[in-house]
Amino acid sequence: MEEPQKPKKSWISYWIIALCVFLLLQAFVFPNLFKGRVKEVGYETFISMTENNEIGSVTIESNQITFTDKSEKQVYQTGRLDDPDLIQRLYNSGAKFESQIDSGTSPLLYILISYVLPIALMLLVFHFFNKKMAQRMGGGDGSMMFGMGKSNAKVYVKSTTGIKFKDVAGEEEAKELLAEIVDYLHKPERYKEIGASMPKGALLVGPPGTGKTLLAKAVAGEANVPFFSISGSEFVEMFVGRGAAKVRELFEQANKQAPCIVFIDEIDTIGKKRGAQLTTNDEREQTLNQLLTEMDGFKGNQGVIILAATNRPEVLDPALLRPGRFDRQVRVELPDLKGREAILNVHLKKIKTEETIDVNYIARMTAGASGAQLANIVNEAALRAVRMGKDSVTTADLAESVETIIAGAEKKNSILSEEEKRIVAYHEIGHALVAAKQSGSAPVQKITIVPRTSGALGYTMQVEEDEKSLISKKDACQKLEVLCGGRAAEEVVFDIVTTGASNDIERATDIARNMVTRYGMSENFGMMALQTGGNTYLGDPAQSTCSPETARLVDEEIQEIIAAAHRRAKEILMENREKMDELAAYLLEKETISGEEFMEILEGKTA
Ligand code: ADP
Ligand code: MG
Ligand code: ZN
Repeated sequence: MEEPQKPKKSWISYWIIALCVFLLLQAFVFPNLFKGRVKEVGYETFISMTENNEIGSVTIESNQITFTDKSEKQVYQTGRLDDPDLIQRLYNSGAKFESQIDSGTSPLLYILISYVLPIALMLLVFHFFNKKMAQRMGGGDGSMMFGMGKSNAKVYVKSTTGIKFKDVAGEEEAKELLAEIVDYLHKPERYKEIGASMPKGALLVGPPGTGKTLLAKAVAGEANVPFFSISGSEFVEMFVGRGAAKVRELFEQANKQAPCIVFIDEIDTIGKKRGAQLTTNDEREQTLNQLLTEMDGFKGNQGVIILAATNRPEVLDPALLRPGRFDRQVRVELPDLKGREAILNVHLKKIKTEETIDVNYIARMTAGASGAQLANIVNEAALRAVRMGKDSVTTADLAESVETIIAGAEKKNSILSEEEKRIVAYHEIGHALVAAKQSGSAPVQKITIVPRTSGALGYTMQVEEDEKSLISKKDACQKLEVLCGGRAAEEVVFDIVTTGASNDIERATDIARNMVTRYGMSENFGMMALQTGGNTYLGDPAQSTCSPETARLVDEEIQEIIAAAHRRAKEILMENREKMDELAAYLLEKETISGEEFMEILEGKTA
């Protein structure tokens, strides 16, 4: 669904090509054109013709002699040698001395052929290339003749995007806000009557892959007005000053076509805070200034609406965000359970599926996935179905593709020794058992010890029953215990530690650090923020704001929190040692077991 990326206009290369053509023509073709009537001859021919009185007229230049025969039909040329009494002999032979011998081409024609023709040819080549480029861009914009003068905005209208609000699942709040803009574009009179003016711009803010670009296209599709789309990075090009010029041209075009929508994707490329960096980027600042000016330049009711998208709102220049510019911020968040179900449904409609797809189950498996990831999961499932020679997609295909995307594909023939397999089995059962023994903790969905291409030797998948927006300290601690469960099992059963817990350790440390530094869940610090910043959407690491001494205390506390969870996990496992052996044996035999099987054994229904 990515929009076609327009190739960069390499007009420099046209100039180079054109120049080459010009030089080649000059060097090889044109000189010969004028040689038609001129014949190069040796000096001895000249002497013998002089002696035989055959010379008509003659021109003597510093290094060459041009002469004709008596009929003046044929023009000859020869080099000039040191010949003192040449003039006298020529005079005696009755030759006429001329200042210039007409070589058969009129000066006008000469200029025409040697200068005007190549330039015309050059322009033709130029034009041809431009046409081709315009076609490739799909714009077919005839006015792009000299390419360099125009902005890169592509014009979209309804027929070319074809995307409607119904193609964007979930994101109801965002759609509601944008629907108002569409409504305005449809009947601006209603708004004018009351005196309401539309916001000039709306900024779509959210993590990558949540459908920001898609929403903007849907607005254009619904509004049925021209849609100019340009990416922030396209403004910042090779030549200084071009960015600002491009902004100007873009708005010129847009104003002509109003009502219309201008969409600036990834606006953070040009909209970064000015003067915040150590090295300033003049080009970018100029571009931004121009954008700010243009946004002020037209009245709200003129019908040019600017949409922009970014996943880094915190770096945007405050001037962009003030009322009168992007005064409306539309948050496009990661979908919740209902949203994920809706998105899955939208994408499942595009493929052939079994009657009974458990969409809810898949949605619960994919907590935290973005719309783009969900679309990818559905496509992976379809690919898998084809690979398996089936003619429709099943829930199992979807579940498998979720795992493929989370954990990598199954490694078919990796060799694990029996001992290693046993350790992995106990490790995974350790996680699952701790999770199952905690009241309120989500039950496990699936446990597998089939190695994955991502390097995981096995994993335990937990599926949340419903999503929590608030996580209590108890929840966080329980999560830590589950993460510690794998390592704890290795210690309890084999009395060894392995590298298999590295990912668990990383995640546990992350949770514990956040508990202390961000959520005020620690004993020592209470409600004190100990780190700042970090991009909310891109997961940039946050910076610590405390003194080195405090940082040391923070580290100690994190360590204590994890150690406590580790102890608790070990306790749980030792209390349930028999069940653990039973479960591990079953897992070793089956390699993959479902949550139900696990619970049945745990509750002793089968044995
Ligand atoms: P971004 O927010 O990074 O601009 P896009 O709009 O490019 O994300 O979304 C990428 C793809 O993900 C879309 O083309 C679409 O297939 C899918 N997608 C994302 N969000 C949704 C959604 N809410 N409903 C349906 N599909 C979605
Ligand atoms: Mg995008
Ligand atoms: Zn583990």
